[in-house]
Amino acid sequence: MLSHQTDRAPQARSTKIVATLGPASSDRRTLERIFAAGVDVVRLNFSHGSRDDHLARAELVREVCRESARTVGIMADLQGPKIRIGRFRDGRVTLEAGADFVLDAERELGDERGVGLDYKELPSDVRPGDVLLLDDGKIVFDVTQVAGSRIHSTVRHGGVLSNNKGINRLGGGLTAPALTAKDMEDIRTVAEMRADYLAVSFPKHGRDMALARELLRNAGGHALLIAKIERAEAVDAHALDDILAASDGIMVARGDLAVEVGDASVPALQKRMIRVARERNKLTITATQMMESMIASPMPTRAEVSDVANAVLDGTDAVMLSAETASGRYPVETVEAMSRICIEAEKSSPVSLDREFLDRVFTRVDQSIAMAALFTAYHLKVKAIAALTQSGSTALWMSRLNCGVPIYALTSETSTRYRVSLFRGVFPLTVTYHGHDRDLLLEEAEEVLVRNGAVTAGDIIVVSFGEPIGSPGGTNTMKIVKVGEHRRA
Ligand code: PGA
Ligand code: MN
Repeated sequence: MLSHQTDRAPQARSTKIVATLGPASSDRRTLERIFAAGVDVVRLNFSHGSRDDHLARAELVREVCRESARTVGIMADLQGPKIRIGRFRDGRVTLEAGADFVLDAERELGDERGVGLDYKELPSDVRPGDVLLLDDGKIVFDVTQVAGSRIHSTVRHGGVLSNNKGINRLGGGLTAPALTAKDMEDIRTVAEMRADYLAVSFPKHGRDMALARELLRNAGGHALLIAKIERAEAVDAHALDDILAASDGIMVARGDLAVEVGDASVPALQKRMIRVARERNKLTITATQMMESMIASPMPTRAEVSDVANAVLDGTDAVMLSAETASGRYPVETVEAMSRICIEAEKSSPVSLDREFLDRVFTRVDQSIAMAALFTAYHLKVKAIAALTQSGSTALWMSRLNCGVPIYALTSETSTRYRVSLFRGVFPLTVTYHGHDRDLLLEEAEEVLVRNGAVTAGDIIVVSFGEPIGSPGGTNTMKIVKVGEHRRA
């Protein structure tokens, strides 16, 4: 008896698309359309919305997946300690360059001369000479004096400043802990909705990620952890290594990162972070303003097309959309455009096996089989790799190098099917285990690949699996198979 679960036909695109949900994309019809356009993972942004909103959205996403036979993962993104100003009496003020302005932790409503702060410790974190960037760097203050709860500054770049805008310090160094009380509460919601990914905002070191993981596991959650790299301290080589070791992947969170390290440093950091993460067998998401102009326009700019294509060439697992799909006018067109750009860029993506393969360090049996399968697939120019995997880790290792062959993660575990949704070049398919019968399992694996249009009779494929079948333990076997010949008498 074969499984009837079929996932959507294998795709021509290896790079995954993460789309943030919001008012523009939370109804059933729009979800169906952005899924059909190619969304692989949705992001629920816990900076906005209530616990019930997020739970309802997650439920609807799962429902649309079931109905459309798509496997779209869910990533919950914690708000983190984004430091914000308070509110203004009139909602906003216009600041002139050269004016004096006071950030005061004890103030209630603000005006042209000053405003309150939601993070009361900020005055003890800053010194005269510091540069503060507000509203993603649109407004810049030079700190002149700190007295008690008051930070005195001079406006360097003015403009309109409205309620609750964020504050960063150029160069980083603000001490707010990565997990706020709200984040800790939200982690319970994330566990309850059985999210596939948990993104942690503003981590400074591995300890922040370890704490998030512990809270999530204690709440019963199994999500993979993504560290958002958006603090100046986190890009230092040691800190990045430490964060990577404690995470399953990173997000190049260019919005806050650009404000802390200076926008011109971000492109090189993006390349380095993606390279290092892949070497450490970790995932990467490139985020923020990728298709920003499509919030209001049905066409991307030339610069945006290049940006998405360059992230693909850098080797990112996924490219992310924020306001474009959350609140923009053209969520469907944006996903379609992004998908099209990825597919084209992948045609010139370097196959990295030649250069990098011999430098890989691996000692585990399952990892050795994953690497052997990759090497074989590349040199035999096979049609597909089929990784029979219960945890997804074999597929992860295989996908850290681009061998130019699609990797199908065949699993009977629903959670694994969803978790590989972010892995570049990996496509999830469902198989059913029939006790310990190896031949039956391999036969079904072939059948599932054929049924989903991944291979046809006569194609050569590489299959990896663990023996004995059905008993716990990792992948230890690789087989080269000609599709259609593996048939029981
Ligand atoms: P955010 O994170 O959208 O939650 O701020 C992404 C970024 O800073 O780029
Ligand atoms: Mn951010």
